[in-house]
Amino acid sequence: MKKVLALLFIFVLSIGCVACSKKDNITEISKNLSNYDMTIDLNTESKTAFGVLNLDYINSSDDALNELKFHLYPQFFKEDACHLVVSSTKLNDAYPNGMSYSEFEVSRVKVEDTDAIVQYSGEYDDILVVDLNSNLLPNNRINIEIEFNFTLPNCEHRFGYGENTINLANFYPIACVYEDGAFDESGYNANGDPFYSDMANYDVKLNLDNSNYIVAGTGEKTDIKQVNGKYQTTFNADLVRDFAMVISDKFEVISDKVGDTNVEYYYFSDDFSEKSLNAGIDAIETFSDLFGEYSYSNFSIVESDFIYGGMEYPNLIMISADIENIDDYMNVIIHETAHQWWYGMVGNDEYTYPWLDEALTEYSCLLFYDNNSDYNLTHSQMVDVSKSNYTLFVTVYQDVLGDLDTSMRAVDEYDTEPEYTYCTYVKGVLMYESLYQLIGEKDFVAGLKQYFNDNKYTNATPNDLIFAFENSSGNELDNFFSSWLDGKVVIR
Ligand SMILES: [Zn+2]
Repeated sequence: MKKVLALLFIFVLSIGCVACSKKDNITEISKNLSNYDMTIDLNTESKTAFGVLNLDYINSSDDALNELKFHLYPQFFKEDACHLVVSSTKLNDAYPNGMSYSEFEVSRVKVEDTDAIVQYSGEYDDILVVDLNSNLLPNNRINIEIEFNFTLPNCEHRFGYGENTINLANFYPIACVYEDGAFDESGYNANGDPFYSDMANYDVKLNLDNSNYIVAGTGEKTDIKQVNGKYQTTFNADLVRDFAMVISDKFEVISDKVGDTNVEYYYFSDDFSEKSLNAGIDAIETFSDLFGEYSYSNFSIVESDFIYGGMEYPNLIMISADIENIDDYMNVIIHETAHQWWYGMVGNDEYTYPWLDEALTEYSCLLFYDNNSDYNLTHSQMVDVSKSNYTLFVTVYQDVLGDLDTSMRAVDEYDTEPEYTYCTYVKGVLMYESLYQLIGEKDFVAGLKQYFNDNKYTNATPNDLIFAFENSSGNELDNFFSSWLDGKVVIR
């Protein structure tokens, strides 16, 4: 995701296919993944939906599993949820027509065609626990069918709708990551993008009641047709870690190619649409050169009713229609595109280590400007602004509130959104700039290339990142990273 700060000048930071036969052999790699087959019926008037998920789940762990667990993120958009989905200072922007809430219910679960016993756990019954009634051995598969229904809130967020777009993200039951002998049951948080998931394949059919709507989605749009009086759009996306759609009856669409990748820009109020599309194309090209090739045949940039600067999903990025300055708007496009590498292809636990993808993504923008001098931002300008913003924030905070914990930590360990933003993004840029100065551009970029190659299509850890930079530079970097992450480094 990317957030917008306005301190020294308006400067944007951001918060959050595919069946292709090119580049890496995605078809081959995707054979060993779980398959999400979903049909969603959405009423565009009432914003209610009914979904059926047919999941062919593979046990990729070394343990026998007798249950599976799923995140139910829409639970947190309900009226009596345990905490807000945005910080209290953002409520007016997120809910321009007053508070609005979701409904969400899992109505039926079957395991291998037999009704299953389910329970709920997590901080707000947001984890669905499905009893498998047997042991699922490593590398074995099982079929789970989940019927669910929801009502979207009038909320300009990842799960909700505004005046122009319906944002369907984090809307379906998604399997919790299983690691170290347990499922990850992290909940939701207003800070950052509190998600963590494994690579999988998706076949999704969206049925709408109205033919005026255009759908942008993760992956390749393989079919649009009329079925039983509904207007059906089908997507296929292999080797992705999530699936999202944005729907609008106001979209205009332009597109262009970069290599084998078709880049589409969906927009409704952008006077600089060609520039916006080109920013995405330049970013795909630059990051492919710097880190390693973008693996997919599709990429969609989508102007959205979204309160933060932007949000990343596999093959699809939401860009907030509220950003007025075209340079800021392009900066968010570049940031969210960088997430296709850091979050998308190389995944990580964004709840526990938000800095791992966010700081790297933000710093990737600086590398972009190094390689694209015709943009109105530069590497050194972004470093200067980050430093000024960060030191001003720390000074003001300490003057008003006292000691500030500047460690870079999990999303739920920050008391306020500004602390999360400054420690994760702004300080993150300064941390990477310090490393860049220490080991030099060549070893820095080589380290990122290695990190990408070693961890592509998996979930990386902080140690994987440190290992890659140590390997490229020949330096011992544990102390460097721990001093920044633990908040010991003083920035003046
Ligand atoms: Zn981001």
